[in-house]
Amino acid sequence: MVLEPICCPDCHTTDVVKNGKSAEGKQRYRCRNGECSRASFILHYSYRGYLPEVKQQIADMAVNGSGIKPPACASRSEIALGY
Ligand SMILES: [Zn+2]
Repeated sequence: MVLEPICCPDCHTTDVVKNGKSAEGKQRYRCRNGECSRASFILHYSYRGYLPEVKQQIADMAVNGSGIKPPACASRSEIALGY
């Protein structure tokens, strides 16, 4: 069990709550940010963030100004899948 803050893939708030399970048995979450259009999402564990080439991609995105995320989300290893 990994206890890390869950971030909404759209607004990156950590104000999310568990929202049941998907058909595959994965934990589903719901964003509580009233200004966010994301209704619910599922985190998919992939560990991509630990691969050097991915870190380089993140650095490139940060330089381009298009992929900057709050620190709470920057080190996350999960990919959030929108539903
Ligand atoms: Zn959100």
